[in-house]
Amino acid sequence: MSWGFSTDPIFQAKLDWIERFVREEVEPLDHICDFSPYDVHNARRNAIVKPLQAKVREQQLWACHLEPDHGGQGYGQLKLALMNEILGRSAFGPTVFGIQAPDTGNGEILAKFGTEAQKAKYLQPLLDNDIVSCFSMTEPRGGSDPTQFTCKAELVGDEWVINGEKWFSSHAHVASFLITMAVTDPDAARHNRLSAFIVPADTPGLEIVKNMPHGNSAWPSHAYLRYTDVRVPRDHLLGERGGGFTVAQTRLGGGRIHHAMRTLAQCKKALDMMCERALSRFTQGGLLSEKQLVQEKIGDSWMEIEQFRLLLLQTAWKIDEYNDYKKVLRDIAAVKVLMPKVMHDVASRALQIHGSLGLTPDMPFIDQVMDSYHTGLADGPTEIHKLTVAKLTLREHKGTDDLFPTGYIPYQREAALKKYADWVEQDIAA
Ligand SMILES: Cc1cc2nc3c(=O)[nH]c(=O)nc-3n(C[C@H](O)[C@H](O)[C@H](O)COP(=O)(O)OP(=O)(O)OC[C@H]3O[C@@H](n4cnc5c(N)ncnc54)[C@H](O)[C@@H]3O)c2cc1C
Repeated sequence: MSWGFSTDPIFQAKLDWIERFVREEVEPLDHICDFSPYDVHNARRNAIVKPLQAKVREQQLWACHLEPDHGGQGYGQLKLALMNEILGRSAFGPTVFGIQAPDTGNGEILAKFGTEAQKAKYLQPLLDNDIVSCFSMTEPRGGSDPTQFTCKAELVGDEWVINGEKWFSSHAHVASFLITMAVTDPDAARHNRLSAFIVPADTPGLEIVKNMPHGNSAWPSHAYLRYTDVRVPRDHLLGERGGGFTVAQTRLGGGRIHHAMRTLAQCKKALDMMCERALSRFTQGGLLSEKQLVQEKIGDSWMEIEQFRLLLLQTAWKIDEYNDYKKVLRDIAAVKVLMPKVMHDVASRALQIHGSLGLTPDMPFIDQVMDSYHTGLADGPTEIHKLTVAKLTLREHKGTDDLFPTGYIPYQREAALKKYADWVEQDIAA
Protein backbone atom coordinates (compact mmCIF):
# COMPACT_ATOMS: atom_id res chain seq x y z
CA MET A 1 0.00 0.00 0.00
CA SER A 2 1.21 3.48 -0.74
CA TRP A 3 -0.38 6.51 0.86
CA GLY A 4 1.68 9.66 1.05
CA PHE A 5 1.53 13.41 0.86
CA SER A 6 5.11 14.29 0.02
CA THR A 7 6.55 15.68 -3.20
CA ASP A 8 9.60 13.98 -4.65
CA PRO A 9 12.71 16.16 -4.37
CA ILE A 10 13.29 16.39 -8.15
CA PHE A 11 9.83 17.76 -8.79
CA GLN A 12 10.03 19.94 -5.67
CA ALA A 13 13.07 21.64 -7.23
CA LYS A 14 10.94 22.42 -10.27
CA LEU A 15 8.17 23.82 -8.05
CA ASP A 16 10.75 26.01 -6.31
CA TRP A 17 11.84 27.34 -9.71
CA ILE A 18 8.20 28.01 -10.68
CA GLU A 19 7.59 29.83 -7.39
CA ARG A 20 10.53 32.20 -7.98
CA PHE A 21 9.87 32.67 -11.69
CA VAL A 22 6.17 33.47 -11.21
CA ARG A 23 6.82 35.93 -8.37
CA GLU A 24 9.69 37.73 -10.02
CA GLU A 25 8.92 37.60 -13.74
CA VAL A 26 5.26 36.74 -14.37
CA GLU A 27 3.17 38.40 -11.66
CA PRO A 28 4.56 41.88 -12.50
CA LEU A 29 2.92 41.62 -15.95
CA ASP A 30 -0.54 41.69 -14.33
CA HIS A 31 0.17 45.26 -13.19
CA ILE A 32 1.56 46.82 -16.35
CA CYS A 33 -0.06 45.08 -19.33
CA ASP A 34 -3.10 46.74 -20.91
CA PHE A 35 -3.73 43.69 -23.13
CA SER A 36 -5.11 40.23 -22.48
CA PRO A 37 -2.70 37.27 -22.24
CA TYR A 38 -4.90 35.70 -24.94
CA ASP A 39 -4.30 38.47 -27.49
CA VAL A 40 -1.81 36.55 -29.65
CA HIS A 41 -2.26 39.09 -32.46
CA ASN A 42 -0.77 41.86 -30.32
CA ALA A 43 2.94 42.41 -31.09
CA ARG A 44 3.53 44.14 -27.71
CA ARG A 45 2.07 41.13 -25.93
CA ASN A 46 4.22 38.72 -27.90
CA ALA A 47 7.38 40.76 -27.26
CA ILE A 48 7.03 40.23 -23.50
CA VAL A 49 5.23 36.87 -23.28
CA LYS A 50 7.17 34.80 -25.85
CA PRO A 51 10.60 35.14 -24.13
CA LEU A 52 9.03 34.08 -20.82
CA GLN A 53 7.42 31.09 -22.53
CA ALA A 54 10.88 30.19 -23.90
CA LYS A 55 12.26 30.11 -20.33
CA VAL A 56 9.47 27.74 -19.32
CA ARG A 57 10.29 25.46 -22.26
CA GLU A 58 13.97 25.45 -21.24
CA GLN A 59 12.89 24.15 -17.85
CA GLN A 60 10.79 21.46 -19.57
CA LEU A 61 7.66 22.81 -17.95
CA TRP A 62 5.75 23.77 -21.12
CA ALA A 63 2.20 22.44 -21.70
CA CYS A 64 2.39 20.03 -18.79
CA HIS A 65 -1.24 18.97 -19.22
CA LEU A 66 -0.22 17.02 -22.33
CA GLU A 67 1.44 13.71 -22.97
CA PRO A 68 4.90 13.82 -24.61
CA ASP A 69 3.53 12.85 -28.05
CA HIS A 70 1.72 16.20 -28.06
CA GLY A 71 4.64 18.23 -26.78
CA GLY A 72 3.94 17.99 -23.05
CA GLN A 73 5.81 16.34 -20.21
CA GLY A 74 3.29 13.62 -19.29
CA TYR A 75 3.44 14.75 -15.68
CA GLY A 76 -0.20 13.93 -14.98
CA GLN A 77 -2.83 15.86 -13.06
CA LEU A 78 -1.31 15.71 -9.58
CA LYS A 79 1.90 17.44 -10.61
CA LEU A 80 -0.13 19.85 -12.72
CA ALA A 81 -2.17 20.72 -9.63
CA LEU A 82 0.98 21.50 -7.66
CA MET A 83 2.18 23.74 -10.49
CA ASN A 84 -1.17 25.47 -10.94
CA GLU A 85 -1.49 26.31 -7.26
CA ILE A 86 1.54 28.52 -7.77
CA LEU A 87 1.13 29.96 -11.26
CA GLY A 88 -2.62 30.58 -10.83
CA ARG A 89 -1.66 33.62 -8.73
CA SER A 90 -1.08 35.53 -11.97
CA ALA A 91 -3.50 36.18 -14.87
CA PHE A 92 -0.56 35.67 -17.24
CA GLY A 93 0.72 32.53 -15.46
CA PRO A 94 -1.30 29.89 -17.35
CA THR A 95 -0.43 31.41 -20.75
CA VAL A 96 3.27 31.68 -19.92
CA PHE A 97 3.23 27.94 -19.06
CA GLY A 98 1.03 26.91 -22.03
CA ILE A 99 -1.82 25.61 -19.88
CA GLN A 100 -4.53 28.25 -20.31
CA ALA A 101 -8.24 27.48 -20.61
CA PRO A 102 -10.06 26.83 -22.87
CA ASP A 103 -7.12 25.94 -25.13
CA THR A 104 -6.07 23.03 -22.92
CA GLY A 105 -9.46 21.33 -23.21
CA ASN A 106 -9.96 22.27 -26.85
CA GLY A 107 -6.52 20.82 -27.61
CA GLU A 108 -7.58 17.57 -25.95
CA ILE A 109 -10.69 17.47 -28.15
CA LEU A 110 -8.68 18.09 -31.31
CA ALA A 111 -6.09 15.48 -30.35
CA LYS A 112 -8.83 12.92 -29.74
CA PHE A 113 -11.38 13.68 -32.48
CA GLY A 114 -9.67 15.86 -35.14
CA THR A 115 -8.54 14.63 -38.57
CA GLU A 116 -4.82 14.65 -39.34
CA ALA A 117 -5.30 17.76 -41.50
CA GLN A 118 -7.15 19.55 -38.68
CA LYS A 119 -4.49 18.61 -36.17
CA ALA A 120 -1.79 19.97 -38.47
CA LYS A 121 -3.69 23.20 -39.06
CA TYR A 122 -4.92 23.91 -35.53
CA LEU A 123 -3.48 21.60 -32.88
CA GLN A 124 0.24 22.31 -33.22
CA PRO A 125 -0.13 26.11 -33.42
CA LEU A 126 -2.54 25.91 -30.46
CA LEU A 127 -0.03 23.93 -28.40
CA ASP A 128 2.65 26.47 -29.35
CA ASN A 129 0.29 29.33 -28.30
CA ASP A 130 0.66 30.88 -31.75
CA ILE A 131 -3.13 30.81 -31.93
CA VAL A 132 -5.92 30.60 -29.32
CA SER A 133 -9.35 28.98 -29.47
CA CYS A 134 -12.90 29.33 -28.19
CA PHE A 135 -15.49 26.88 -26.84
CA SER A 136 -18.92 27.98 -28.01
CA MET A 137 -21.67 26.09 -26.22
CA THR A 138 -23.82 28.28 -23.93
CA GLU A 139 -26.82 29.97 -25.55
CA PRO A 140 -28.51 33.27 -24.65
CA ARG A 141 -31.65 31.47 -23.40
CA GLY A 142 -29.70 29.39 -20.88
CA GLY A 143 -26.53 27.40 -20.34
CA SER A 144 -27.35 25.17 -17.39
CA ASP A 145 -29.44 22.80 -19.47
CA PRO A 146 -27.78 21.93 -22.81
CA THR A 147 -30.76 19.78 -23.77
CA GLN A 148 -32.60 23.09 -24.40
CA PHE A 149 -30.11 24.42 -26.96
CA THR A 150 -31.52 25.47 -30.33
CA CYS A 151 -28.49 26.55 -32.43
CA LYS A 152 -28.65 23.97 -35.22
CA ALA A 153 -26.42 22.45 -37.89
CA GLU A 154 -27.90 20.87 -41.03
CA LEU A 155 -26.02 18.76 -43.54
CA VAL A 156 -26.49 20.32 -46.99
CA GLY A 157 -24.50 18.46 -49.63
CA ASP A 158 -20.99 18.22 -48.28
CA GLU A 159 -21.30 21.08 -45.84
CA TRP A 160 -22.76 21.67 -42.39
CA VAL A 161 -24.79 24.87 -42.24
CA ILE A 162 -24.97 26.37 -38.75
CA ASN A 163 -27.65 28.84 -37.62
CA GLY A 164 -28.31 30.18 -34.14
CA GLU A 165 -26.82 32.20 -31.30
CA LYS A 166 -24.24 31.54 -28.62
CA TRP A 167 -23.52 33.39 -25.39
CA PHE A 168 -20.35 33.98 -23.35
CA SER A 169 -18.10 32.34 -25.94
CA SER A 170 -14.88 33.43 -24.22
CA HIS A 171 -12.01 34.75 -26.37
CA ALA A 172 -13.98 34.40 -29.63
CA HIS A 173 -12.64 37.81 -30.74
CA VAL A 174 -9.01 36.58 -30.73
CA ALA A 175 -9.60 32.90 -31.51
CA SER A 176 -8.56 31.29 -34.79
CA PHE A 177 -11.21 28.61 -34.47
CA LEU A 178 -14.20 27.77 -32.34
CA ILE A 179 -15.50 24.45 -31.14
CA THR A 180 -19.24 24.93 -31.53
CA MET A 181 -21.98 22.70 -30.18
CA ALA A 182 -25.08 22.58 -32.39
CA VAL A 183 -28.27 20.52 -32.64
CA THR A 184 -27.99 18.04 -35.53
CA ASP A 185 -30.63 15.55 -34.44
CA PRO A 186 -33.55 17.42 -32.83
CA ASP A 187 -35.72 14.30 -32.51
CA ALA A 188 -33.06 12.09 -30.92
CA ALA A 189 -32.91 11.27 -27.21
CA ARG A 190 -32.11 14.33 -25.05
CA HIS A 191 -28.41 13.61 -24.83
CA ASN A 192 -27.94 12.66 -28.48
CA ARG A 193 -29.23 15.85 -30.10
CA LEU A 194 -25.97 17.82 -30.11
CA SER A 195 -22.83 17.51 -32.21
CA ALA A 196 -19.49 19.35 -32.01
CA PHE A 197 -17.89 21.22 -34.92
CA ILE A 198 -14.69 23.07 -35.71
CA VAL A 199 -15.62 26.50 -37.01
CA PRO A 200 -12.72 28.59 -38.40
CA ALA A 201 -13.15 32.10 -36.95
CA ASP A 202 -13.09 33.78 -40.36
CA THR A 203 -16.02 31.74 -41.73
CA PRO A 204 -18.59 34.06 -43.38
CA GLY A 205 -21.80 34.43 -41.37
CA LEU A 206 -20.10 34.31 -37.95
CA GLU A 207 -20.72 37.62 -36.22
CA ILE A 208 -19.83 39.02 -32.80
CA VAL A 209 -23.00 40.81 -31.67
CA LYS A 210 -21.33 42.08 -28.51
CA ASN A 211 -18.22 41.50 -26.42
CA MET A 212 -18.70 41.59 -22.65
CA PRO A 213 -16.27 41.74 -19.73
CA HIS A 214 -17.12 40.01 -16.48
CA GLY A 215 -17.34 42.45 -13.59
CA ASN A 216 -14.63 45.09 -13.67
CA SER A 217 -12.31 43.08 -15.91
CA ALA A 218 -10.45 45.31 -18.36
CA TRP A 219 -10.87 42.78 -21.15
CA PRO A 220 -14.31 42.36 -22.80
CA SER A 221 -13.59 38.80 -23.82
CA HIS A 222 -16.95 37.01 -23.60
CA ALA A 223 -18.76 37.12 -26.92
CA TYR A 224 -22.44 37.08 -27.81
CA LEU A 225 -22.23 35.33 -31.19
CA ARG A 226 -24.65 35.00 -34.08
CA TYR A 227 -24.25 32.19 -36.62
CA THR A 228 -26.10 32.94 -39.88
CA ASP A 229 -25.71 30.24 -42.56
CA VAL A 230 -22.18 29.50 -41.32
CA ARG A 231 -20.89 26.78 -43.65
CA VAL A 232 -18.13 24.33 -42.67
CA PRO A 233 -16.97 21.23 -44.56
CA ARG A 234 -18.50 17.89 -43.62
CA ASP A 235 -15.27 16.68 -41.96
CA HIS A 236 -15.40 19.57 -39.46
CA LEU A 237 -17.75 17.43 -37.36
CA LEU A 238 -15.78 16.39 -34.24
CA GLY A 239 -16.53 12.92 -32.96
CA GLU A 240 -19.75 11.18 -33.82
CA ARG A 241 -22.89 12.87 -35.09
CA GLY A 242 -25.05 13.26 -31.95
CA GLY A 243 -21.96 12.72 -29.78
CA GLY A 244 -21.59 16.36 -28.69
CA PHE A 245 -21.99 15.53 -24.99
CA THR A 246 -19.17 13.00 -25.15
CA VAL A 247 -16.92 15.55 -26.84
CA ALA A 248 -17.85 18.24 -24.29
CA GLN A 249 -17.10 15.89 -21.40
CA THR A 250 -13.61 15.35 -22.84
CA ARG A 251 -12.78 18.96 -22.09
CA LEU A 252 -15.03 19.79 -19.17
CA GLY A 253 -13.68 17.17 -16.77
CA GLY A 254 -10.12 18.42 -17.09
CA GLY A 255 -11.23 22.03 -17.55
CA ARG A 256 -13.09 22.13 -14.25
CA ILE A 257 -10.33 20.67 -12.16
CA HIS A 258 -7.68 22.89 -13.81
CA HIS A 259 -9.79 25.92 -12.98
CA ALA A 260 -9.99 24.77 -9.37
CA MET A 261 -6.20 24.38 -9.22
CA ARG A 262 -5.72 27.98 -10.34
CA THR A 263 -8.41 29.21 -7.93
CA LEU A 264 -6.55 27.51 -5.09
CA ALA A 265 -3.60 29.78 -5.91
CA GLN A 266 -5.83 32.85 -5.52
CA CYS A 267 -7.21 31.57 -2.20
CA LYS A 268 -3.69 31.09 -0.85
CA LYS A 269 -2.69 34.55 -2.08
CA ALA A 270 -5.66 36.11 -0.22
CA LEU A 271 -4.76 34.22 2.98
CA ASP A 272 -1.11 35.35 2.78
CA MET A 273 -2.23 38.96 2.42
CA MET A 274 -4.76 38.59 5.24
CA CYS A 275 -2.06 37.31 7.61
CA GLU A 276 0.43 40.01 6.66
CA ARG A 277 -2.15 42.73 7.30
CA ALA A 278 -3.25 41.18 10.60
CA LEU A 279 0.36 41.14 11.76
CA SER A 280 0.92 44.77 10.68
CA ARG A 281 -2.18 46.80 11.59
CA PHE A 282 -2.33 48.20 15.13
CA THR A 283 -5.69 49.18 16.57
CA GLN A 284 -7.36 49.42 20.01
CA GLY A 285 -4.26 48.54 21.97
CA GLY A 286 -2.93 45.69 19.87
CA LEU A 287 -2.26 44.14 16.50
CA LEU A 288 -5.24 42.86 14.52
CA SER A 289 -3.65 39.41 14.74
CA GLU A 290 -4.17 39.50 18.52
CA LYS A 291 -7.95 39.96 18.23
CA GLN A 292 -9.75 36.63 18.54
CA LEU A 293 -12.37 37.49 15.93
CA VAL A 294 -9.55 38.14 13.44
CA GLN A 295 -7.85 34.90 14.45
CA GLU A 296 -11.11 33.09 13.74
CA LYS A 297 -11.13 34.48 10.20
CA ILE A 298 -7.56 33.30 9.65
CA GLY A 299 -8.17 29.88 11.17
CA ASP A 300 -11.39 29.33 9.21
CA SER A 301 -9.67 30.40 5.98
CA TRP A 302 -6.72 28.04 6.50
CA MET A 303 -9.02 25.10 7.28
CA GLU A 304 -11.31 25.74 4.32
CA ILE A 305 -8.37 26.10 1.92
CA GLU A 306 -6.73 22.96 3.26
CA GLN A 307 -9.91 20.87 2.92
CA PHE A 308 -10.43 22.17 -0.64
CA ARG A 309 -6.77 21.53 -1.49
CA LEU A 310 -6.79 17.97 -0.17
CA LEU A 311 -9.95 17.03 -2.08
CA LEU A 312 -8.52 18.67 -5.18
CA LEU A 313 -5.18 16.85 -4.94
CA GLN A 314 -6.87 13.55 -4.19
CA THR A 315 -9.10 14.02 -7.23
CA ALA A 316 -6.06 14.83 -9.40
CA TRP A 317 -4.40 11.68 -8.05
CA LYS A 318 -7.50 9.61 -8.89
CA ILE A 319 -7.52 10.98 -12.45
CA ASP A 320 -3.92 9.80 -12.84
CA GLU A 321 -4.71 6.43 -11.24
CA TYR A 322 -7.90 5.58 -13.16
CA ASN A 323 -7.23 7.43 -16.41
CA ASP A 324 -11.00 7.64 -16.81
CA TYR A 325 -12.92 10.85 -16.10
CA LYS A 326 -16.16 8.91 -15.69
CA LYS A 327 -14.79 7.38 -12.49
CA VAL A 328 -14.14 10.80 -10.96
CA LEU A 329 -17.31 12.64 -11.97
CA ARG A 330 -18.45 13.06 -8.37
CA ASP A 331 -15.00 14.13 -7.16
CA ILE A 332 -14.67 16.77 -9.88
CA ALA A 333 -18.22 18.02 -9.28
CA ALA A 334 -17.48 18.31 -5.54
CA VAL A 335 -14.27 20.27 -6.19
CA LYS A 336 -16.20 22.52 -8.59
CA VAL A 337 -18.83 23.17 -5.88
CA LEU A 338 -16.30 23.99 -3.17
CA MET A 339 -14.22 26.31 -5.38
CA PRO A 340 -16.50 29.41 -5.51
CA LYS A 341 -17.40 29.21 -1.82
CA VAL A 342 -13.83 28.94 -0.56
CA MET A 343 -12.67 31.69 -2.94
CA HIS A 344 -15.57 33.94 -1.97
CA ASP A 345 -15.24 33.45 1.77
CA VAL A 346 -11.45 33.76 1.98
CA ALA A 347 -11.29 36.81 -0.31
CA SER A 348 -14.16 38.47 1.60
CA ARG A 349 -12.36 37.98 4.92
CA ALA A 350 -9.13 39.33 3.45
CA LEU A 351 -11.04 42.34 2.18
CA GLN A 352 -12.66 42.92 5.59
CA ILE A 353 -9.35 42.67 7.46
CA HIS A 354 -7.86 45.30 5.13
CA GLY A 355 -10.72 47.67 6.02
CA SER A 356 -11.55 50.44 3.56
CA LEU A 357 -8.29 49.80 1.69
CA GLY A 358 -9.54 46.27 0.93
CA LEU A 359 -12.51 47.69 -0.93
CA THR A 360 -10.42 49.75 -3.36
CA PRO A 361 -9.03 48.66 -6.74
CA ASP A 362 -5.58 49.09 -5.17
CA MET A 363 -6.05 45.65 -3.61
CA PRO A 364 -7.09 42.46 -5.46
CA PHE A 365 -9.96 41.40 -3.21
CA ILE A 366 -12.90 42.90 -5.10
CA ASP A 367 -11.70 41.12 -8.24
CA GLN A 368 -11.24 37.89 -6.31
CA VAL A 369 -14.75 38.06 -4.82
CA MET A 370 -16.13 38.78 -8.27
CA ASP A 371 -14.08 35.93 -9.70
CA SER A 372 -15.66 33.57 -7.19
CA TYR A 373 -18.94 34.15 -9.08
CA HIS A 374 -17.12 33.42 -12.32
CA THR A 375 -15.98 30.06 -10.89
CA GLY A 376 -19.52 29.32 -9.70
CA LEU A 377 -20.94 29.76 -13.22
CA ALA A 378 -18.35 28.91 -15.88
CA ASP A 379 -18.44 25.20 -16.80
CA GLY A 380 -21.89 24.94 -15.23
CA PRO A 381 -23.45 26.51 -12.11
CA THR A 382 -22.85 25.21 -8.60
CA GLU A 383 -26.41 23.95 -8.21
CA ILE A 384 -26.06 21.51 -11.12
CA HIS A 385 -22.80 20.11 -9.74
CA LYS A 386 -24.36 19.68 -6.30
CA LEU A 387 -27.07 17.61 -7.97
CA THR A 388 -24.37 15.46 -9.59
CA VAL A 389 -22.70 14.83 -6.23
CA ALA A 390 -26.02 13.94 -4.66
CA LYS A 391 -27.23 11.70 -7.50
CA LEU A 392 -23.97 9.75 -7.69
CA THR A 393 -23.95 9.35 -3.92
CA LEU A 394 -27.54 8.09 -3.91
CA ARG A 395 -26.62 5.55 -6.58
CA GLU A 396 -24.38 3.84 -4.01
CA HIS A 397 -27.29 3.31 -1.64
CA LYS A 398 -30.69 1.66 -1.66
CA GLY A 399 -33.95 2.17 0.21
CA THR A 400 -35.82 -0.28 2.43
CA ASP A 401 -39.41 -1.55 2.19
CA ASP A 402 -39.62 -1.90 5.96
CA LEU A 403 -41.56 0.59 8.09
CA PHE A 404 -38.40 1.44 10.03
CA PRO A 405 -34.91 2.18 8.69
CA THR A 406 -32.25 -0.53 8.84
CA GLY A 407 -30.44 1.66 11.38
CA TYR A 408 -33.45 1.47 13.77
CA ILE A 409 -31.72 0.68 17.07
CA PRO A 410 -34.25 -1.91 18.34
CA TYR A 411 -33.62 -3.94 15.14
CA GLN A 412 -29.88 -3.70 15.61
CA ARG A 413 -30.16 -4.71 19.25
CA GLU A 414 -32.29 -7.71 18.29
CA ALA A 415 -29.72 -8.78 15.71
CA ALA A 416 -26.86 -8.31 18.20
CA LEU A 417 -28.65 -10.41 20.82
CA LYS A 418 -29.13 -13.16 18.25
CA LYS A 419 -25.48 -13.09 17.16
CA TYR A 420 -24.10 -13.25 20.71
CA ALA A 421 -26.93 -15.37 22.16
CA ASP A 422 -24.54 -17.91 23.79
CA TRP A 423 -22.44 -15.25 25.47
CA VAL A 424 -25.54 -13.33 26.60
CA GLU A 425 -26.93 -16.52 28.16
CA GLN A 426 -23.68 -17.28 30.01
CA ASP A 427 -23.38 -13.65 31.07
CA ILE A 428 -26.84 -13.64 32.60
CA ALA A 429 -26.21 -16.99 34.32
CA ALA A 430 -22.90 -15.77 35.85
C1 LIG B 1 -16.63 34.08 -16.89
C2 LIG B 1 -17.42 33.10 -17.66
C3 LIG B 1 -16.88 32.49 -18.78
C4 LIG B 1 -17.64 31.60 -19.55
N1 LIG B 1 -17.08 31.05 -20.67
C5 LIG B 1 -17.84 30.25 -21.46
C6 LIG B 1 -17.32 29.74 -22.69
O1 LIG B 1 -16.16 30.01 -23.03
N2 LIG B 1 -18.12 29.00 -23.47
C7 LIG B 1 -19.40 28.70 -23.13
O2 LIG B 1 -20.07 28.00 -23.88
N3 LIG B 1 -19.94 29.16 -21.96
C8 LIG B 1 -19.21 29.94 -21.13
N4 LIG B 1 -19.73 30.44 -19.97
C9 LIG B 1 -21.14 30.22 -19.69
C10 LIG B 1 -21.41 29.26 -18.54
O3 LIG B 1 -21.16 27.95 -18.93
C11 LIG B 1 -22.87 29.52 -18.13
O4 LIG B 1 -22.93 30.78 -17.53
C12 LIG B 1 -23.42 28.46 -17.20
O5 LIG B 1 -23.51 27.21 -17.82
C13 LIG B 1 -24.81 28.87 -16.68
O6 LIG B 1 -25.65 29.20 -17.76
P1 LIG B 1 -26.44 30.59 -17.74
O7 LIG B 1 -25.47 31.69 -17.47
O8 LIG B 1 -27.23 30.69 -18.98
O9 LIG B 1 -27.40 30.49 -16.49
P2 LIG B 1 -28.84 29.82 -16.44
O10 LIG B 1 -28.83 28.50 -17.14
O11 LIG B 1 -29.85 30.81 -16.86
O12 LIG B 1 -28.97 29.55 -14.89
C14 LIG B 1 -29.08 30.66 -14.00
C15 LIG B 1 -29.04 30.17 -12.58
O13 LIG B 1 -30.16 29.35 -12.30
C16 LIG B 1 -29.82 28.41 -11.29
N5 LIG B 1 -30.09 27.07 -11.79
C17 LIG B 1 -29.98 26.60 -13.05
N6 LIG B 1 -30.33 25.30 -13.11
C18 LIG B 1 -30.69 24.93 -11.85
C19 LIG B 1 -31.15 23.72 -11.25
N7 LIG B 1 -31.32 22.59 -11.97
N8 LIG B 1 -31.41 23.71 -9.93
C20 LIG B 1 -31.25 24.82 -9.18
N9 LIG B 1 -30.81 26.00 -9.69
C21 LIG B 1 -30.54 26.06 -11.00
C22 LIG B 1 -28.33 28.62 -10.99
O14 LIG B 1 -28.21 29.46 -9.86
C23 LIG B 1 -27.83 29.32 -12.23
O15 LIG B 1 -26.67 30.10 -11.97
C24 LIG B 1 -18.97 31.30 -19.18
C25 LIG B 1 -19.53 31.90 -18.03
C26 LIG B 1 -18.79 32.78 -17.27
C27 LIG B 1 -19.40 33.42 -16.08
